[in-house]
Amino acid sequence: MDIKILWMYHDLMDLYGDKGNTEVLRYRSEKRGIQCIVDTCTIGEEKDIRDYDLFFLGGGADREQQLIFDDLLKRKDNIREAMDAKTAFLLICGGYQLFGKYYKDQDGTVIDGLGFFDYYTESSDRDHRCIGNIAVETTMDNETFQAVGFENHGGQTRNVASPFARVLYGHGNTYSDGTEGFMNDQVLATYMHGPLLPKNPRIADAILKRALRKRYGEVALAPLDDTLEDKAREIMLKRLKVKK
Ligand code: GLN
Repeated sequence: MDIKILWMYHDLMDLYGDKGNTEVLRYRSEKRGIQCIVDTCTIGEEKDIRDYDLFFLGGGADREQQLIFDDLLKRKDNIREAMDAKTAFLLICGGYQLFGKYYKDQDGTVIDGLGFFDYYTESSDRDHRCIGNIAVETTMDNETFQAVGFENHGGQTRNVASPFARVLYGHGNTYSDGTEGFMNDQVLATYMHGPLLPKNPRIADAILKRALRKRYGEVALAPLDDTLEDKAREIMLKRLKVKK
């Protein structure tokens, strides 16, 4: 069994250790005897996205988003085909924003998103930038659990049909609406850097299962020893006073 990951714009969209997400997916696959191939793709490079089980796009500042959006839009049909072929998607922050209708930055410059989903993002004023640790509650694979991360975005994302999580501490999609990210059966899009997966192994396994589903159907993953990861998350939840 193997899993093929395509890390898009690895050289431009990699804020706050988003790269760690690919490392955790590789580690958790290989521990279970599943070979994990992480391929990269940047501006102008030819890759057929349908060949991959997971499309991963990290976060980037406004400058990087402006650099990549033309290239990303050129790949729209190919991304749609990959989506139709049941590829899983993990999108962080700037990557999340670019799958919606548009992103309007603080200077009023609008860049088009892929428009796959109805949400859109407009930058807040400087007093309402969403920065800091974040804790959320989400449900994946019929299990409800708490997750932690770090966010830093001016973008306020609205009109999200199905949020990924409920905010327990921090901001999420907007400064104060209490929702975080977007999720459907194939796509998990979130503002949580940190990076997301090393801090939240349950999310990592849910992503692995989504990616494996494309070629292998439902796969049961053997449990791993997450004692240290769980302890680190508990400490953060206590520090944020989400837990006593
Ligand atoms: N530039 C976007 C914003 O500030 C995304 C930032 C990010 O990816 N952390 O909203």
